[in-house]
Amino acid sequence: MTSGARLLLIGPPGAGKGTQAARLASAFGVPAISTGDIFRANVANQTELGVKVKAIMDAGEYVPDDITNAIVADRLRESDASNGFLLDGYPRTPEQVAELDRVLAAEHEPLNAVVQIEADTDEVVSRLLKRAAEQGRADDTEEVIRHRMSVYAAQTAPLIDLFAQRGLLVTVDGLGAVDDVTERILSALAGVGVVA
Ligand code: ADP
Repeated sequence: MTSGARLLLIGPPGAGKGTQAARLASAFGVPAISTGDIFRANVANQTELGVKVKAIMDAGEYVPDDITNAIVADRLRESDASNGFLLDGYPRTPEQVAELDRVLAAEHEPLNAVVQIEADTDEVVSRLLKRAAEQGRADDTEEVIRHRMSVYAAQTAPLIDLFAQRGLLVTVDGLGAVDDVTERILSALAGVGVVA
């Protein structure tokens, strides 16, 4: 039994990060912290933050780093994260990596692993269009989806190399049944000594 796993999930929009995050967080007994969910909740409640970020999100752009970093730093200070956490959708830029490094060095232990969920572009676009039909998320139109993919490729995909250089990267195929993907992630993590 390991408690206190500190994990990141990284992958393109539609790779299934949110679905897997909930399962992994419960397997490890840590909170799943999704910046996308935090922003969406603020938009839904029309908070000051929500009003500020709505148009950015609807356009498929990234919320500015200073806003995102402050939210995550606060969230990681909450008591339920003191024993570990699973971050979904953060960090997505080099500045966010630098801030997370600072917060972890000051207030937490280092990361145990970064899980990359791979899925090819056609598959994720078709998943997101299906989700659009079911849930009506404002940023799930084909045009915005394609833009989110290109923002991911330009700004976030390069971070994968950085985590690989740090020896933290575990890569898993995100295609197939949800349960199978969870199993793949848990066994890949166990392979690097991170056991739920
Ligand atoms: P997805 O990765 O499926 O597009 P998310 O729910 O993770 O969706 O994020 C939705 C939107 O929230 C992003 O397109 C962006 O506008 C904003 N967002 C989420 N996380 C971040 C982040 N770390 N930095 C900047 N913007 C973010």
